[in-house]
Amino acid sequence: MARIHLMPDHLSNKIAAGEVVERPASVVKELVENSIDAGASWVSVELMEAGLQRIRITDDGSGMEEEDCERAFFRHATSKIQNENDLFHVRTLGFRGEALASIAAVSRLSMQTSTGEVAGTKIELEGGKVLEKGKSDARQGTDIIVDELFFNTPARLKYMKTIHTELGHITDVMNRMAMAHPEVKFTLTHNEKQIFQTNGRGDLRQVVAKIYGMNVARKLVPIEAETRDFKVTGYVAKPEVYRASRNYMATIINGRYIRNIPLNKAIQEGYHTLLPIGKSPIVVLNVEMDPILVDVNVHPSKLEVRFSKEKELYDLVQGAIRGVFRTETLIPNVESPVKKQEKPKSTQETFAFDSVHREEAHEKREEAVDHLLRHSDPGFPHQQDEVLQEMQADFQIEETKPSEPEAAPEPKQVQTPAPEPEENRVPTMYPIGQLHGTYILAQNEEGMYIVDQHAAQERIKYEFFRDQLAEVDHEVQELLVPITFDFSRQEALKIEEHKETLEAVGLFFEPFGANSFIIRSHPQWFPKGFEEEVIHEMVEQLMNEERIDVLKLREEAAIMMSCKRSIKANHYLNQSDMFRLLEDLRKSTDPFTCPHGRPIIVFFSEYEMEKMFKRVM
Ligand code: ADP
Ligand code: MG
Repeated sequence: MARIHLMPDHLSNKIAAGEVVERPASVVKELVENSIDAGASWVSVELMEAGLQRIRITDDGSGMEEEDCERAFFRHATSKIQNENDLFHVRTLGFRGEALASIAAVSRLSMQTSTGEVAGTKIELEGGKVLEKGKSDARQGTDIIVDELFFNTPARLKYMKTIHTELGHITDVMNRMAMAHPEVKFTLTHNEKQIFQTNGRGDLRQVVAKIYGMNVARKLVPIEAETRDFKVTGYVAKPEVYRASRNYMATIINGRYIRNIPLNKAIQEGYHTLLPIGKSPIVVLNVEMDPILVDVNVHPSKLEVRFSKEKELYDLVQGAIRGVFRTETLIPNVESPVKKQEKPKSTQETFAFDSVHREEAHEKREEAVDHLLRHSDPGFPHQQDEVLQEMQADFQIEETKPSEPEAAPEPKQVQTPAPEPEENRVPTMYPIGQLHGTYILAQNEEGMYIVDQHAAQERIKYEFFRDQLAEVDHEVQELLVPITFDFSRQEALKIEEHKETLEAVGLFFEPFGANSFIIRSHPQWFPKGFEEEVIHEMVEQLMNEERIDVLKLREEAAIMMSCKRSIKANHYLNQSDMFRLLEDLRKSTDPFTCPHGRPIIVFFSEYEMEKMFKRVM
């Protein structure tokens, strides 16, 4: 007897829902994407109990005609693609025709929609089955209510975390949507309190200010670069503000927020030695490209994508960021102490959003943000940022010093590769003397500078060694005494597996016992005295990345050499030593941070000092 049969629709939809609808945030994402695809200029998201009780999405998009209304809930029902060819030219956020069917399968859903010309349609479903259909008013747009998500999939419901966590995921989704679509006005309310709003005026900087706070927004530098295939625009934060988490690198491809590890790497490489090790930058990058160059059909949630011509894209991004920081002056300015407002208590309830106080603060903040971005007003109440920071308790935000707002600079047009650094980014500084044998105090008409002598020399030496190492060729140097290396079993296997790669870069590992190898020669470019370290670096690279990046290794070697060979703290320098060091630093390509990303120069402006001593108010 045959045992295979086709599943009824409601069952297969319920199974498919497992992929698309993981948690309330996935419902919000899918429905907001539909609103954007429908050309909405505003989208409102109302939640009860972090969406577990109710999610309501209202938009002023195109709406649906009556006959499409029911069909929209069939699986694989879409208005966005017709044939195979369209799949390679997707400009909309959706195209798989799965979301409505999946969401309806695991909730009680009702929808009202109208194209605005005639009376609209109302439809009600439960567990994917249509209960009722009728007429509704003719307001153009769509209004969808999703009640009791996962009411019929108790196993899934059990996996829901706290209200706090679910709301955190939804906030993430809304932040991403808002960054990808500054032209759309978004509002998010939770238990009838508004917790997020954008103005839909199309200004990405304002959106970023809403999400990350004014302190970050003030440090943003616009970026713009293009090749024939790609156009990159957006903002990159100056390296003095950074985060411990990689989540602050927002990348948007044709209006879709995506995550792509190599693209993040390209961004980090763009900052390169400007950031402390292990820290990540704050960046919002929009990339426009022909949809044929990106495959969005890799993952059901479309968070991951695949690029063709990826090398070109990564080079463009990296070069553009490098270019920006070659022309900006990046000396952190020391400011007179600002009275700290008392910080709101950070407790478990930071995501509760249920205090009237917070709502008021939010509104005030709204005004202040708009005001500040239009005018430069140093009197901005800083506690507003803390309110926002508190709201984003999930984010690990490090304190940055509040500083005076800067007028938004014009975007800099950059080309790849990065342009030559602009001269005179650091003015001539005249040494006053040495402090604690560690810092050089210097001055000029602008104010006073404190320079970390070790960091300064590390920077100078690093650039020297880097250029020197880049020039030596592929010749091999024989060792007088061969070096023996003992590795772990895992490492030894990697070495054997990648024997050819290693030989191609000039390293010949001769097996010598179980997990040991002998090296009799090495590439000429290896810095003297650092041979073993570089070889260990190589093996580590193989372990982590399955390949060897000689350029990167050379850079790392340059960093090692510069660090070991630089004057340490507690080292006396005379007046002319100091002046020479400061002048060499000025001439370096990146005079602001040491190769490990620590700052080299700190500046006290004349004005700030006068403020500190109350000579001016
Ligand atoms: P997809 O977005 O992949 O096409 P969905 O299941 O999300 O699949 O939606 C199915 C269809 O329903 C869409 O193609 C669109 O035509 C219609 N639709 C969904 N939401 C809206 C909306 N908010 N406004 C107008 N049309 C919508
Ligand atoms: Mg969709």
